[in-house]
Amino acid sequence: MGADVRLDTMPAELLGKSHTELREWMASLGEPAYRGAQVYHAIYAERRFAFAAMTNLPAALRERLEREAAITLPRIARKYHSADGSVRYLLPLEAAPAEGTGRGAPAERSATVEAVFMPSEGRQTICISTQAGCAVDCKFCLTATLGLVRNLTAGEIVGQVLVALEDNRERLAPRTNVVLMGQGEPLLNYDATMAAVRILLDPNAVGLAARHVTLSTSGIIPGIERLAREKIRPKLAVSLNASNDAERDAIMPINRKYPIAALLEACRKYPLRPWERLTFEYVLLGGVNDSAEAARRAARLLAGMRAKVNLIPWNPGELPYRSPAAEAVEEFRRILAQKDVPVFVRYSRGQDIFAACGQLAVIETGMEARA
Ligand code: SF4
Repeated sequence: MGADVRLDTMPAELLGKSHTELREWMASLGEPAYRGAQVYHAIYAERRFAFAAMTNLPAALRERLEREAAITLPRIARKYHSADGSVRYLLPLEAAPAEGTGRGAPAERSATVEAVFMPSEGRQTICISTQAGCAVDCKFCLTATLGLVRNLTAGEIVGQVLVALEDNRERLAPRTNVVLMGQGEPLLNYDATMAAVRILLDPNAVGLAARHVTLSTSGIIPGIERLAREKIRPKLAVSLNASNDAERDAIMPINRKYPIAALLEACRKYPLRPWERLTFEYVLLGGVNDSAEAARRAARLLAGMRAKVNLIPWNPGELPYRSPAAEAVEEFRRILAQKDVPVFVRYSRGQDIFAACGQLAVIETGMEARA
């Protein structure tokens, strides 16, 4: 009962609400629904986060919103500037109940995520998280050591983009790319992730092009199949990282549930738009998955698919893997290219500010990486 009373008096959180939800919410206040559409545009398209700044609303409504609603952007706790111009944000969110699932999960489940802003010629790329921690347990990923802390809300997901854009307002390039490649498996937080993506892709909201927003999955087949049925969806990238099941089982235990053959079958059925290719990411771990034979197997797996491969040489760090030799990277690339698989070598940005996925959150929470 007491909790109900408190909920009733809490301001309504507007960040993350869709166009329809904001219209309905405004109507529920007894205000015209189109005022909800105006707030939607103000938050996501104009990045006005104070009701006082929404001067197209009547003064009395602005005052009412101050009392009855909130727009809570993720708070920036720390910023790390890289020599290459990237900025990594550490964003503490509301903590989760103490019931985590991960290895060595602490009693206190602080939910801290990261977003990274990466400027380059004519555009910026913003990498965001969809979960605090992650349950998928990829062996090369520091986020995995946290276990799943909790799913983010749609507002917390879209809020990371808004925070990064706002904080770099003075130097924004015309184009913005967003990659859902930070902490978490987006397809295991499907509804909130897609609610955020719809806001990112709505021309009346953040207004990004679908070709500039990429969702990266470890290969959750039911999620891929669900995404395939969406009218509005981002591009899809699949984190492959191995060329046979034994190799993939060892570094991505999720492969036991969704093995390579089934995963690639789902990928082959995925309905690509005319301009679209699937992306396969392949983190090259020295001596683990970077042999010429692995490259030949990967080329066979991907033969005939409308796909490209991003090879990502491993950054040495806290986990017990080593970088691939430069010659191994080149040989891997050459073998795929020779088999007509489009292939690119990508080096992760901001290496001097802990670029490996999840590294900052792990350092901040004082947890030790797996030995
Ligand atoms: S690589 Fe991605 S899916 Fe795998 S454990 Fe890390 S955050 Fe989760």
